[in-house]
Parts: sequence; C-alpha cells; structure tokens
Amino acid sequence: MQETILIKLGELVLKGLNRKTFESTLLKNIRRRLSGLGDFEVKSAQSTIYVIPKTEESDLDAAEERIGKIFGIVSYSRACVAEKDLAAIREAAGEYLRDELLDAATFKVETKRSDKKFPYTSPEISEDVGAYLLEQYPHLSVNVHEPDLIVRVEVRDFGAYVHGNPRPGAGGIPVGTGGKAAILISGGIDSPVAAWTMAKRGVELTAIHFASPPYTSQRAEEKVVRLLEKVSEYSGRMEMITVPFTHIQEEILAKCPEELFTIIMRRFMMRAAEKIARKTGCQALITGESLGQVASQTIQAIACTDAAAHLPIFRPLIGSDKAEIVATSYKIGTYDISIEPYEDCCTVFTPKHPRTRPILHIVETAEMALDAEALIDECLQNLKYTKIGWRRRTDRED
Ligand code: ATP
Ligand code: MG
Repeated sequence: MQETILIKLGELVLKGLNRKTFESTLLKNIRRRLSGLGDFEVKSAQSTIYVIPKTEESDLDAAEERIGKIFGIVSYSRACVAEKDLAAIREAAGEYLRDELLDAATFKVETKRSDKKFPYTSPEISEDVGAYLLEQYPHLSVNVHEPDLIVRVEVRDFGAYVHGNPRPGAGGIPVGTGGKAAILISGGIDSPVAAWTMAKRGVELTAIHFASPPYTSQRAEEKVVRLLEKVSEYSGRMEMITVPFTHIQEEILAKCPEELFTIIMRRFMMRAAEKIARKTGCQALITGESLGQVASQTIQAIACTDAAAHLPIFRPLIGSDKAEIVATSYKIGTYDISIEPYEDCCTVFTPKHPRTRPILHIVETAEMALDAEALIDECLQNLKYTKIGWRRRTDRED
C-alpha cells in the first residue's frame, strides 16, 4: 500500500505576505533533514506539504521521526494513498487503520474533499466509509462527539488519503526565517534548552563555547558537541566555535578583585562572543540565564554583563523555573548528557563570595588593570571550528 506523510503548517498560515518565504524555507528544511534516508519528493499544495517516498528504500519511519522535530509544523499524519474511488477508499480505511480500529471502541469518519470534481460529497463519503467499517469491525460504535479514533479521508487533487489521528508537530516557525544568533553554550542544562527555544522561533544558530584547558578537559568539550548534536535534530546544522579562554581567566584572577571575578569573566565572554557573532553574520547573542538562579543572574549582574556588548542578548529562560527547564531538556533529549559531571570554565575559578549586586563603574574601574582588547584579540586568533549535525542517519551509534 502506498504511503505518504501529510504535513500541516503551523503559524505559517497566519503570516500573510510572508507566507511564501516561510513555506519555501520549510520545504528546504524538510528536504535537507530527510537527506540520507532515501529518495523523497517534497512538495506543497492546498495548504499541505506532501512527503512522498520514491523508492522501496526510502525510510518512512525515520522520515516521520525527523519530521516530528522540524519547527514550523503543527501536525503531521502518515496516510495511505488510495485511488479516487469510493470502494477503494473504504477498503483502504479498513485495511490501513486495522490496528487503530481494533484498539478503539468508538470512532467517526471525517472527510475533506478539496477535489470538487469527485462525484460524492464529504458527508456521503463519511457515511459510506463509516458503514463499511462498522460492518468489518462489529465491536466498534460511532461517537461523533468524543471518539477514540477519527478516521480521516482527504480527497485531494493527487489522490485520496486515509489516515488516523494526526501527530503533534514541533510547532514554532521554520529555522532560518528568524535571522541568525549565537548561542553561548556550556555543558549545563540551561543553555541547550535556550538554544532549542530560540530555534523554535525560527532562529538559525551558531554555537560559541569557551574552554579553559587544562582546567577544562577535552571530554568536557566533547560533551558540548554531543549536546549540540541533540539540539541540531531540531535546529538543523550549525557551526560550533570553541574559544580558548584560559589566559583571560588567569589574567582576571591575577589582576582583579576576587569578588568581581565572575562578572568580569562574563563581560569578557560577551565581548568575545559579540566579535565572533559579527564575523559569522549573527544578529544577537543567546544565553541560558534565568533570573536569580546564581550570583551572576541578578538584575544588577545582568545589567553589568549587557553593558559589555552592543548586540541584543536573548535570555529565553529568564522567567522559567528550573523544573520547567529540566522538563524541556528531557523532552529534547539533552538532560542525560547535561548531568554528566564535567567541569565548565565558569566553575573552575568561582570565587567564594561573588558580588551579587555589582556596580558598573566599579567593575569598569577594576577592568582597567587588564588590556581587554589585546586579550580578546589573542583568543580570537585561536578559534576552533566544529561542524554539528552533518551526519544525520538515525541508526548511527551515539
Ligand atoms: P547552564 O546550565 O547553561 O550552564 P547555568 O545555570 O549553569 O547555565 P552559568 O554557568 O552561570 O549558569 O552560565 C550562564 C550562561 O552563560 C549559560 O547558560 C551559557 O549561556 C553561558 N555560559 C556559561 N558557561 C559557558 C561556556 N563555557 N561557554 C559558553 N557559554 C557559557
Ligand atoms: Mg553552567
């Protein structure tokens, strides 16, 4: 039986004139994400995107799994394609949905007929298919208000499609329609969730990671790569840029008051990140900060951090509780990696009593002991680039 995936677009449909760009970006994203899974035709017609396997080898199960993680899709259904003929439609429904029909106690049939040349009306089709299914599956009864299963029939230009309840898509808007931003990524729980949250709003990502060897290990950096691989299942490909941060941290430690270490370090992160962002076409920075979570996440500390950069800084988790962030990290598959115990450059020199309400001019005065520009330039000379999300087989070993 020939199968197809039918995709319903999310907020896209609301976007008026932008709709075409949104739709073409989504089509491009779907095509790219399906690469490596065999030959598929991906086309759009009548407010639906069709994903049609072209050969026996096209892996529809894997395609379905990937489609569930593409932003801009509100729901999708795996459907069987029947001839545009009433008998063929009813038999397809009985056979294709066998497992769901056996599992259900109640059902109803809903028909959409966008091909107005088809000789039966939607209610006539629903009635015919419903009667046939009742006959084939005598344990079933019809419930039009709250059925366990809705059998959906869509008579479209390219054929008749039969499917059960659609699956929820990832929502959001297609990555690439919301500009490009740099996510400051650590190995923690929060920043991968922040990355995912902004990708959901259509933002294409570049990742920036500060490493402080030998205080932080190669394995800590590999952990970040694995986290980003998970995020990239939703956000698509990205580049990770590793910034050597040891010398800057050692200089701050040697020359600035201990209680200002964290805030000055964060300001250096922003300065370096801003330069990298501008070089890579990013229009904003993203962090995983959440108000009040740690000393550097008070309003005063955030104000001091922001003053070091001129790009907008998005903090999508600012109002989230830890429990909410953890729930999202479970959902997107980053939690188990995040809790692996590797050191982060932010934690290696943490002062005992960080200043929780730093005052900008005092911080600026303390920083005068450092040659900020030279330090930033030095670390920008030694960036390391890693491609994320390019190997996309689902059966690869993790
Ligand atoms: P996370 O769970 O993301 O590590 P956190 O609650 O531990 O966040 P901090 O460690 O203070 O908070 O870091 C705050 C934010 O600063 C992080 O969410 C991340 O965006 C950024 N950040 C921290 N460490 C690094 C790093 N090594 N490289 C890049 N960005 C970092
Ligand atoms: Mg952290």
